[in-house]
Amino acid sequence: MLTIPKVLLDQVHAHVTAAYPNEACGLLLGAWHQSVGGSTMQVVIRIEATANVADQLSAFESHVPGSVSNRYLISPDDYVRIDRAAHAENLDIIGIFHSHPDHPATPSREDLRTAWLGLSYMIVSVQRGAAADTMSWRLMANGTAFESESILLVA
Ligand SMILES: [Zn+2]
Repeated sequence: MLTIPKVLLDQVHAHVTAAYPNEACGLLLGAWHQSVGGSTMQVVIRIEATANVADQLSAFESHVPGSVSNRYLISPDDYVRIDRAAHAENLDIIGIFHSHPDHPATPSREDLRTAWLGLSYMIVSVQRGAAADTMSWRLMANGTAFESESILLVA
């Protein structure tokens, strides 16, 4: 389960709707908590909106054509900078959010191909410029598929 304060989800929605019709992305910073039953709960403490540098994708992966209208890419520099700042606050990067302009909030094949185990992948479906649906996904242990995780909105 992914727990996120409503004010932070509002920040996510503001970032991805401002970028419409392009995809937008960012990082979820927080902590993992072990519940009594042994399952893990992700708690978002802060979000970091990042630039979508998918237009530079050829520099990283020349075999996959990319554009900010249908892909997202967080630059390695941003990732490392935000990761270090998070650690200084005793936080971790616990997830990545991005938007699907005029598409459902379900992971694409490309999302599956690039996903890391252990992270939450929050996807916001932005329909005609408005945040329509928000879902969160985690890679299953065998790495072949996503499973959805519930999002708990807190005040
Ligand atoms: Zn996607």
